[in-house]
Amino acid sequence: MGRKLLFLGPPGAGKGTQAQQIAKLLGIPHISTGDMLRQAVADETELGMQAKAIMEAGDLVPDEIVTALVIERLSQPDAACGYLLDGYPRNAAQADTLAGTYGDDVIDTAVAVDVESEELVRRILQRAQEQGRADDTEDVIRNRLSVYREETEPLIEYYRVRDRVADVDGVGTIDEVFGRIVSALV
Ligand code: ADP
Repeated sequence: MGRKLLFLGPPGAGKGTQAQQIAKLLGIPHISTGDMLRQAVADETELGMQAKAIMEAGDLVPDEIVTALVIERLSQPDAACGYLLDGYPRNAAQADTLAGTYGDDVIDTAVAVDVESEELVRRILQRAQEQGRADDTEDVIRNRLSVYREETEPLIEYYRVRDRVADVDGVGTIDEVFGRIVSALV
């Protein structure tokens, strides 16, 4: 049976990059709700239109929308033998829905990638500058971070009491952090 992983970490922690590489290494699908939502926005689907402004403000898209996307994605055959969830669950209600639908074993390990706040703001602002992303203003970044601290970070405790957390220091090069995650997963 393949792994059922969840990646948790603040915006700017490099979670998406790591998640993609780990999923590839393990041969499991990388299921990123951020990617799915951005695709819906780009395709200008009904759902994308609903999500666009919310995402731009750094707020959370309503649980029902994201949950429907994830349940549909998990029903696909490539997810039958494991997956890496990135961006979902993002709050306690989503975690409860997920466990209520599939049982507690829906996640075997929650990889918590940790980086402190000021370093995150610095990284995201730098990325925004390099890529000319005017939408990543400091206010939006700070809002994304505070939504993370309030809504998502408590999930680390949720999975910790179930003894499923692997803590990883997210400061270092991409390769260094990758190595730490691989070591934490064996
Ligand atoms: P980050 O830059 O924090 O890694 P993501 O790429 O995971 O962000 O997600 C981008 C945006 O998509 C979030 O800020 C949020 O608006 C929305 N989103 C993604 N996943 C969820 C979710 N599980 N619940 C609610 N909103 C979500």
